Amino acid sequence: MPVYTSTRYNLSRWKMANRVLTPSELIQAHDLLGEIRQRLNELAAGDPATLFAFRRKIAKELVYDERGKTSERVKLKARKFGEQDGICPECGEQLPEKGAHLDRKNAMDGYTPANTNLIHAECHTRRQAARGWS
Ligand SMILES: [Zn+2]
Repeated sequence: MPVYTSTRYNLSRWKMANRVLTPSELIQAHDLLGEIRQRLNELAAGDPATLFAFRRKIAKELVYDERGKTSERVKLKARKFGEQDGICPECGEQLPEKGAHLDRKNAMDGYTPANTNLIHAECHTRRQAARGWS
């Protein structure tokens, strides 16, 4: 069901630039990171295995905050594959059954049906390199 055929190629040029931190915000971010590292070291009390486990847990949860859970992205990929009739909007070629990437229109808006396209991994890499994001 090629519902989106007429807009397929228009969707490939839809990216917005991500907001970046100002110099003073960057200092705040580094200060926060220092505080987090200090707290992790306190919680680990000198045990490298405990530090590893705490750091890994916090890193994973922060990634979920930005990207959502892996299981949600897997479902979204299947939906987008169907909506796009299995076609990559970047190059117009057939997508593989596995290994395609969700490309966000506006990274801040997350992985939602309206904010993503499913594209080839190579097309994603090429697109990000062209924008200096890789
Ligand atoms: Zn492609």
